[in-house]
Amino acid sequence: MIGITVLGATGSIGQSTLDVVARHRDRYRVVALTANDNVEGLYRQCLEHRPQFAVLAAPQAAELLATRLRAAGSEVTVLSGVDGLQQVAACAETDYVMAAIVGSAGLVPTLAAVRAGKRILLANKEALVMSGALFMEEVRNHGAELLPIDSEHNAIFQCLPPGYRDGLAQVGVRRILLTASGGPFRTTAPHELRRVTPAEACAHPNWSMGRKISVDSATMMNKGLEVIEACHLFATTPQAIQVVIHPQSIIHSMVEYQDGSVLAQLGSADMRIPIAHALAWPERFDSGAQRLDIFQIGQLSFEAPDLLRFPCLRLAFEAATRGGTAPAILNAANEVAVQAFLAGLIPFTDIARIVEQVLDHCTIHDASSLTVVLADDDLARRQAQQMLPTGSGAASA
Ligand code: NAD
Ligand code: MG
Repeated sequence: MIGITVLGATGSIGQSTLDVVARHRDRYRVVALTANDNVEGLYRQCLEHRPQFAVLAAPQAAELLATRLRAAGSEVTVLSGVDGLQQVAACAETDYVMAAIVGSAGLVPTLAAVRAGKRILLANKEALVMSGALFMEEVRNHGAELLPIDSEHNAIFQCLPPGYRDGLAQVGVRRILLTASGGPFRTTAPHELRRVTPAEACAHPNWSMGRKISVDSATMMNKGLEVIEACHLFATTPQAIQVVIHPQSIIHSMVEYQDGSVLAQLGSADMRIPIAHALAWPERFDSGAQRLDIFQIGQLSFEAPDLLRFPCLRLAFEAATRGGTAPAILNAANEVAVQAFLAGLIPFTDIARIVEQVLDHCTIHDASSLTVVLADDDLARRQAQQMLPTGSGAASA
């Protein structure tokens, strides 16, 4: 039996992971489930999946969960805080760790799993954006196995030959075609973007996801973060990545080879497909996702991205090219701005404005250590918070 820990179990990816795991109970044992402060959600998951450990990042919420589980006769051990998250990510009982905490909060627990040499199913792209080179070095040093869950990166992984980690040119790859749906505002007139609401931004046309990544998809910062993620996962540069708008979200990305061949991975827009792929790899098994009906789809279309409409994508490309702590600064400013937008404190178009101003203000350093990266992350957050309307302390992380 393979032991699995799900970091961010109550979220969109966490729930999809448990759905796939429940289809294969003969293979997997749930070792630990974690969440931020969702007592009710984690309580229900604990009763259903009977993990050995449950962790809530918030200590008071963890106490409440422990009391409720004891009252229900459950023997789950409840832990709390970042220490608890690290403990269950690295513990001996765990073989696979689904890294599905949203945002920078995922970095430290995911790194704990890497350092313990686990198989990491990486959904938490922000961890790689913040500290990609250091993260990949830790993966190599500790013999961890890193499998991408982000649908595009999982698609690219499926289209690449073995040995790609030594450089894409060496395995005959010319470039990566990273697909994007274009989000809910692909055709919205630019002057209308200022007035869009959080509910409109979170209404993604093809995918059902957490609120932060939904807003990132609407600004296309998500695609920008994915460009940076791809550079680290596939040992390549932003110049070798072409973003392609593909509104149907059927092709999840493509790899173009030197001989002119282009390989693509297709499937319905259901995260259980990449999750099942990474769980079973190198085997295959049922994910529960609907099969693709290509006759019903009929047509696929493609267009180039509009960097004027989506300045966040341009900013991410610039940060990726600049390197050092620039991606960590971009990510931190974006997290603060997205949270402020979701809280109704700033208009949608201020997200890009704040990220750009923070990047202009902050000194970019070599990402020589995690301490340097986390210091620049912290500084960028504080800079971004200062740009919010006064009295909006509620938007702090
Ligand atoms: P979500 O908001 O639905 O869930 C986030 C999970 O993280 C929850 O369980 C929450 O309790 C936990 N969490 C939040 N803050 C935390 C903190 N400070 N400490 C500990 N736990 C915390 O998010 P999601 O949509 O499932 O996305 C998770 C990650 O996967 C993100 O990095 C996202 O970019 C990535 N991803 C998601 C999708 C998708 O379809 N949802 C696709 C690709 C990549
Ligand atoms: Mg994606």
